[in-house]
Amino acid sequence: MGKVTGFQEYNRELPVKTPVAERVKNYNEFVGLYSDEKLNQQSARCMNCGIPFCHSGCPLGNVIPEFNDAVYRKNWDEAYQILSSTNNFPEFTGRICPAPCESACVLGINKPPVAIEEIEKHIIEIAYSKNMVKPVAPLIKTGKKVAVIGSGPAGLAAAAQLSKAGHSVTVYERDDRPGGLLRYGIPDFKLEKWVIDRRIQIMEEDGIEFKCNAEVGKNVAADEVVRNHHAVVLAGGSTIPRNLPIPGRELKGIYFAMDFLKQQNKRVSSIAVEGEEIFATDKDVVVIGGGDTGSDCVGTSNRQGARSVRQFEVMVQPPEQRTAHMPWPTYPMVLKTTSSHEEGVERSWGINTKEFLGDAEGNLRALKVTDVSWEIDVMGRPIKFNEVEGSEREIPCQRVFLAMGFVNPQFEGTLEQLGVELDERKNVKAKEGVYRTNVSKVFAAGDMRRGQSLVVWAISEGREAARKVDEFLMGHSNLESKDAVNQFDQVFY
Ligand SMILES: Cc1cc2nc3c(=O)[nH]c(=O)nc-3n(C[C@H](O)[C@H](O)[C@H](O)COP(=O)(O)OP(=O)(O)OC[C@H]3O[C@@H](n4cnc5c(N)ncnc54)[C@H](O)[C@@H]3O)c2cc1C
Ligand code: SF4
Repeated sequence: MGKVTGFQEYNRELPVKTPVAERVKNYNEFVGLYSDEKLNQQSARCMNCGIPFCHSGCPLGNVIPEFNDAVYRKNWDEAYQILSSTNNFPEFTGRICPAPCESACVLGINKPPVAIEEIEKHIIEIAYSKNMVKPVAPLIKTGKKVAVIGSGPAGLAAAAQLSKAGHSVTVYERDDRPGGLLRYGIPDFKLEKWVIDRRIQIMEEDGIEFKCNAEVGKNVAADEVVRNHHAVVLAGGSTIPRNLPIPGRELKGIYFAMDFLKQQNKRVSSIAVEGEEIFATDKDVVVIGGGDTGSDCVGTSNRQGARSVRQFEVMVQPPEQRTAHMPWPTYPMVLKTTSSHEEGVERSWGINTKEFLGDAEGNLRALKVTDVSWEIDVMGRPIKFNEVEGSEREIPCQRVFLAMGFVNPQFEGTLEQLGVELDERKNVKAKEGVYRTNVSKVFAAGDMRRGQSLVVWAISEGREAARKVDEFLMGHSNLESKDAVNQFDQVFY
């Protein structure tokens, strides 16, 4: 434990953000770094609890009190070793993780929790600046070849771990650059793309081969990939967006969030945009869907100079504090105000969109909406909504971004051609902890298996699936598993 009285002496502080008026002028990240003194103080707030619940809050099982202690002692090598023993990509999670660990922090019971996510980001950025982040693949190769299909966080984590185990890894990616939603979903103002490129370069130095513009099941035959490798990991994500098939859906001006976001990420990286260009400039925008994707549409619309931005959510407004139904240390479904919300948006809950209304040229001109009230079950969960009588009205707008989540992975192509079995939600059927599909030597990880989730879960799934692949190929595996969180004690103490 860094400082016994740290949690009493110091308050939680986050690095300073660039003011809204400045940051909306560009797509750069805008969260600063701590001074040395501030970083030291924030790490000193960790109490090194007898039972550190933050471990179990983190889907990777990050060994948080130990790295906080190393940060306090300014032992960067130790902090980096601890962090990278459970997380291949702290530079991603340190920027965009919703930090369920912080919801489980013991200090969070009666004070603001330790700023774990920021500390994580500082450890990895210091490690990069001190040239500690190096290729890790062993010199002895197993002679086994593994294909990873999809280069999002799940595929990247699986590839990194399998390469570390000595296997030859090829990653197939249908987009022009690797990264999955890290690159073409999450905007640069949350995660600048040089952060991905820096990691990919190290993975390439590790010997991992990336084949981009390679869509397995389309321009690369799926059965050939399976035949030419000793094992295959499916990590293609959950890519089919939820639609809103109401009257007027065919009008011009209504887009899926990902079509909008992907284009803007390409523009920022000076990559040509194909097809119709989508802009929110000088438009009244309504984002339908209240999650992360919707929030990213808000931030992007403001940067493009939208006239007005609204965000509608059909669910009830979440409470600001934990309720009896979401006690510590569970991840609470409380009201989340993101940095994009801070930049300007009118948010409304309990709104049902009934119809898109158009002008004579077939352009969107308004939404027909009603307020709804929800029936709640004994656990406080909303189960059924009813329209509020007399609340129907028109909301003028010329752009709508549909951000209501993703329903399942794409079946046509790889999954169909290989005969991969799906579960009842149409995700790839492969049990957690096993990660094996019904097809011989084919495994699955990330959103494709789990359904739409988080980057931290994708990394966790990629790591765990890699361990199962390694066991399948070698009969045993020395790769770390989150089930062995305390393995670190054996290494360092
Ligand atoms: C706009 C948006 C913002 C988000 N923000 C956050 C956030 O702030 N924090 C957070 O934790 N999570 C966030 N998420 C969720 C997070 O990005 C995903 O949960 C995560 O990326 C899933 O990782 P994955 O590797 O399983 O899949 P993906 O990241 O979707 O990657 C799958 C990859 O597989 C490729 N692929 C698919 N099929 C094939 C094929 N046949 N051949 C070759 N390649 C193929 C795809 O092109 C893609 O690159 C966000 C999601 C979206 C859409
Ligand atoms: S990866 Fe996410 S949940 Fe895990 S320690 Fe980092 S911020 Fe917390």
